[in-house]
Amino acid sequence: MLALALLTAAASTTDAYLDQTRTRWEGMSRQLWEYAETGLHEDRSAAAIEDLLQKEGFKVERNVAGMPTAFIATAGSGAPVVAIMAEYDALPGLSQKPGEAKKDPEKEGAPGHGCGHNLLGTSAVAAGVAANRARMEQKLPGTIQIFGTPAEELLLGKVFMLKAGVFDKTDVVLSWHPESANQVVTRPRLALTATEVEFFGKTAHAAASPWLGRSALDAMELFDMAMALMREHIQPTARIHRVIKDGGRVPNIIPDYAKIQTWLRDQTGTAVDELLARMRKAADGAALATETRAKVTLLASTRDPLNNQVVGRVMQKEMER
Ligand SMILES: [Zn+2]
Repeated sequence: MLALALLTAAASTTDAYLDQTRTRWEGMSRQLWEYAETGLHEDRSAAAIEDLLQKEGFKVERNVAGMPTAFIATAGSGAPVVAIMAEYDALPGLSQKPGEAKKDPEKEGAPGHGCGHNLLGTSAVAAGVAANRARMEQKLPGTIQIFGTPAEELLLGKVFMLKAGVFDKTDVVLSWHPESANQVVTRPRLALTATEVEFFGKTAHAAASPWLGRSALDAMELFDMAMALMREHIQPTARIHRVIKDGGRVPNIIPDYAKIQTWLRDQTGTAVDELLARMRKAADGAALATETRAKVTLLASTRDPLNNQVVGRVMQKEMER
């Protein structure tokens, strides 16, 4: 309850402060947009945020959980410990001039911010700074943390930070993402496991001696077909999607290597594990049929989040104030 009191008491001071400092945050958002750094390479973006938080009196711990672009910024002391999550990674190939609704790359093929993590990182920091000013002005109890969580698009940052125990002393974590409406979202979100499936065959000249070859591409196609047929027999809540990463070099060389990335999602981690077990059978079956070998590697895995409905309701009320 203390955490909620902190949020409510601070609200009026923070509103005024954020209105006054609007241009500062717009500038930071534009800066992150221009840096457009992909997951785990957010060096300049993370440094810009870290430096700002340090100037604002936060104690900044950089290079957290073995990731150079992960950080924890802390202000205040004692309970409650309220944290805000900042993300600032871009996506490959989405370079875009600011303020243009049509596709118009700043630099063709370069990374860009597709779903607004420049806004995400900036507003998390703005909210933390504003809340901290209110905490000091009104002599409120508690600790404010800002977690810099890199590589959201790769599903990595928060997973490794969790494993390193950095959230252990935190009571409430607030996060947000740009959406089509201003609202507090506490609906369930899907668990997800990202995998890479590789096939190893035997190369041969495709015209001179194809009988000597065993095509890894054939295996991958068969695997993909099995996954496509499987889609009829999965829960309506499940999602399976993929991209082909490597399908060979030239048609006259039988590919001895092929690689596909497949992402599996469903409402719970257990349901995703079941899908994964079925996917492994599809990979092994495709390898058996084509006399190749399959290898499944887990790239990353996240569970369905546990949302706090009570905090969600308080926040929604504050937004409507
Ligand atoms: Zn996003």
